[in-house]
Amino acid sequence: MKYRKSRQREKILDLLKHTDTHPDADWVYGRLKKQIPNLSLGTVYRNLRILVSQGQIQKLPFGSTFDRYDGCISPHYHVICEKCGSVHDFNMAENIDINKMAQSQSSYTIMRHRIDFYGLCEKCSVSPQIAVEINN
Ligand SMILES: [Zn+2]
Ligand SMILES: [Zn+2]
Repeated sequence: MKYRKSRQREKILDLLKHTDTHPDADWVYGRLKKQIPNLSLGTVYRNLRILVSQGQIQKLPFGSTFDRYDGCISPHYHVICEKCGSVHDFNMAENIDINKMAQSQSSYTIMRHRIDFYGLCEKCSVSPQIAVEINN
C-alpha cells in the first residue's frame, strides 16, 4: 500500500517535471488514469499536496479557479491568457529589489513575492487587421 502510493507520487512528479503547461489536478488525473487504472482524483490531490509540502513542486493558486501545479520550483514569473486560461513561464529575471522595497514598508519579514502578467496569448490575440480597424 505504501509502495503503491509513493510510486503514484513519483509518476505525478515526473509528469509535472516534463510539462510546461502548468496543469490542474484534473489534467494530471486524466493523464495518469490510463497508466494507473485504480487512481482516484482524491489520491491525485493528496499526492499533489504532499509534493508541494515537500517543496518538490509549487502550487499556483488563481483565486476562484482551479489551482495549477508547476514542476519548476525556482522563482519565476508567469503570463496568463485571460481568454483561454493558458499559463506560461515568463522569461524575465526575478526582481529581488521588490522584496527589499516591500520590506522597508512592512513589519512583515518579507520572504518572496509572486507576479503574474495577464494578457492574450498568440492564439487568442485579435488579428492586427482588426486592431487597426479599432484604432481608426
Ligand atoms: Zn489564449
Ligand atoms: Zn512556471
